[in-house]
Amino acid sequence: MEFQTKLIHGNWQGDDKTGATNVPIYYSNAFAHHTAKELENIFAGRDAGYVYSRIANPSVDVFEKRVAAIEGGIAAIATASGMSAIYLALMNIVKPGDEVISSSGVFGGTYNLLKNLQDYHIQVKFLESLDADTLNTEVSDKTKVVFAETIGNPKLDVLDIEAVSKVCQEKNIILIVDATMTTPYLIKPIAYGADLVIHSTSKYINGNSNAIGGIIVDGGSKKYSDEKYRGFEKYAKRFGRFAFAAKLRQEIGKDIGAVMAPMNSFFNLVGIETLALRMKAHCGNAMEVAKYLSQHPKVTEVNYPLLETSQYYETAKKYYSKGCSALITCRLGSKQNAYDFIDHLKLIANLVNIGDAQTLVVHPASTICINNTAEEKLQMGVYEDLVRISVGIEDAKDILEDIERALQCL
Ligand SMILES: *Cc1c(COP(=O)(O)O)cnc(C)c1O
Repeated sequence: MEFQTKLIHGNWQGDDKTGATNVPIYYSNAFAHHTAKELENIFAGRDAGYVYSRIANPSVDVFEKRVAAIEGGIAAIATASGMSAIYLALMNIVKPGDEVISSSGVFGGTYNLLKNLQDYHIQVKFLESLDADTLNTEVSDKTKVVFAETIGNPKLDVLDIEAVSKVCQEKNIILIVDATMTTPYLIKPIAYGADLVIHSTSKYINGNSNAIGGIIVDGGSKKYSDEKYRGFEKYAKRFGRFAFAAKLRQEIGKDIGAVMAPMNSFFNLVGIETLALRMKAHCGNAMEVAKYLSQHPKVTEVNYPLLETSQYYETAKKYYSKGCSALITCRLGSKQNAYDFIDHLKLIANLVNIGDAQTLVVHPASTICINNTAEEKLQMGVYEDLVRISVGIEDAKDILEDIERALQCL
């Protein structure tokens, strides 16, 4: 199946029993079986089946398989939020004494999660520029994970996935890529060597901002069978390339229970059908807004990787032929200007979210990054006069008019 067809039909072709065209929402905590032996077989992993919705649920299962199919992964695990997806993916791999290397341009919540791992004796190194050369000098024998976003939110730095994954391959390090910003419509990181892909489905995948959720997609890396990843040994023996997903489901996933609710998985399945159409519209509008902002005298700097003025233009052009998503940041000269701009917008909502059909704006320094030090903010590319715009899919003319009106008030 082609991409758009998979979004609608991937891994589920209607309910045989009733003919329902949408995935039934199974709101059942537990699933009964006829015999004690049947239940034992499922627990022992000899048979497939459902037992309890903290472990697996048939509605969520369809969403997981659909995302795995569109990402080119072999398995996926849906979670209660993007943050829990990141936490579970990391904690399924690392142990005290291990080291994680991350780009410093990652989402504020992720930055703090990583920083707090140090309390559990997991060392975290943030790199201002996560490229192959820097990585080569920074990795050590203890490095188990490299974490990066396809395009950093809100730094908008563009990851050269191929180059970074090559280093990870050579050094036997797991590469986790958060692709929330770009979605599989724009890029499929597994095809470029990522081992795991993460999404906050709350954003573009859901598309309508009606359900918090996350997902981990497993590319089926062979690294887990290596001695370095001893914790996976028994799963690698039994489940082969499915070792990561099997360990997560049987250990930390089950222990923490941060599962996606069946209703949220339904919302996501409805949303994902229009992912390609929406991303195309988001990217088209974002390019128009970025161009408009870059010629505006009140705007001192505009960041959008597909603008020729961007330092990431070459990398963006290499990976993002269909557009580079719809986040734009711009600097307005002072914090007061940033606030005045936000306060004078009428159509565009001031809130902390991205990837909605509506256009959104936020002042990252006083919101998402409020608890970060001045030095951390600099590393994250967050300045006092910076605003972030998540361009929606309204008519571009209306978005531009709203921005123009607000800029005139500065
Ligand atoms: C929003 C976001 C997250 C966190 O996801 P939640 O669903 O809000 O928990 C992680 N990474 C990126 C890039 C995000 O934009």
